[in-house]
Amino acid sequence: MTMRKVITDQNQVLGELDFSIRLMEHLVVPTFVIDPDCRVIIWNKACERLTGLKASEVIGTREHWRGFYDSARPCLADLIAQGRTAEIDALYAEHDHAGDDAIEAHGRKVENWCVMPQAGTRLYLAIDAGPIFDESGKLIAVVETLRDMTVQKEAQAELERLATRDGLTSMANRRSFDETLNTEWRRASRESRALSLLMVDVDFFKPYNDTYGHQGGDECLRQVAAAMSGVVKRASDCVARYGGEEFSVLMPATEPEGARIVAERIRAAVEALRLPHSGSKVADHVTVSIGVASMHVSNDGLSAGLVAAADAALYRAKHEGRNRVVMDDSEPGPATQVA
Ligand code: GH3
Ligand code: MG
Ligand code: MG
Repeated sequence: MTMRKVITDQNQVLGELDFSIRLMEHLVVPTFVIDPDCRVIIWNKACERLTGLKASEVIGTREHWRGFYDSARPCLADLIAQGRTAEIDALYAEHDHAGDDAIEAHGRKVENWCVMPQAGTRLYLAIDAGPIFDESGKLIAVVETLRDMTVQKEAQAELERLATRDGLTSMANRRSFDETLNTEWRRASRESRALSLLMVDVDFFKPYNDTYGHQGGDECLRQVAAAMSGVVKRASDCVARYGGEEFSVLMPATEPEGARIVAERIRAAVEALRLPHSGSKVADHVTVSIGVASMHVSNDGLSAGLVAAADAALYRAKHEGRNRVVMDDSEPGPATQVA
């Protein structure tokens, strides 16, 4: 082989390397590469734009975390380079469940909220990282790519919120209430604790709509809902719009006397709104009737029994004159009623 050929080949190799590095640098996907010692060797332009951290500030250092977090911690690429993928679960909000065997073929995929201290914007990033080996199978680098998923994540969170909230009052909706009731019923059964439920119904609401119009009725429901939420403060309590002008309040670990006190506070708070109601036969303002049921939950009962008991108490509150709180007094069933 002539000297000229060797030089040409070398130039070609150098040219290809240069081309690959340029390609990586200008790739539209934010990408960085670390060596097996976790020092940054490539930090591309898109990564600079995403993180606000310049390649010149980070190349040759182990400080790449500065682009994403406000205190030192490993990035996904570091965990792969150091064989510490067991820590992924503790460090990321979401991750794939690929075992370590799959890393070589597919790398690992995670997602995380990142504070992005240089860019000054909190972002939800989808992060992929995979190892690169030489011909002998030795690890020579780890490549990490990032995708900004903030808009999608926020849209998903908003959809989830909409699916569980009532549009008019922003309270939990019926679907969310049913889920919470089942969860709390199981918990109360496990812990053998009391579970209390209030069913709250606006008195003479049909005439209210007839007098003040449907929009007036909607505004009234919003105000009643706000008054209820102002009374029920425990984080474990669930206030929901059960349907129409009926609301429900589920109170875990609450004995009948405590439930009665909350019910009376709700009744008084609605009355204190003094919303004029000329169509009511019990007052000149909007009032509510409340049925209260409490149960010590056992395994063989059904949560529907609690709702039925609170409904029966509400029915009595209506018949005994409205604008009042009535406790359930039905016979103890399989789920022991303690009122
Ligand atoms: P009672 O004192 O016995 O509870 O009498 P009521 O008139 O409130 O009785 P009922 O439960 O039969 O009437 C409920 C009415 O509530 C029927 C419906 O017109 C009205 N309503 C249900 N949902 C809404 C809503 O979202 N907005 C408005 N404005 N009205 C609603
Ligand atoms: Mg009703
Ligand atoms: Mg009503």
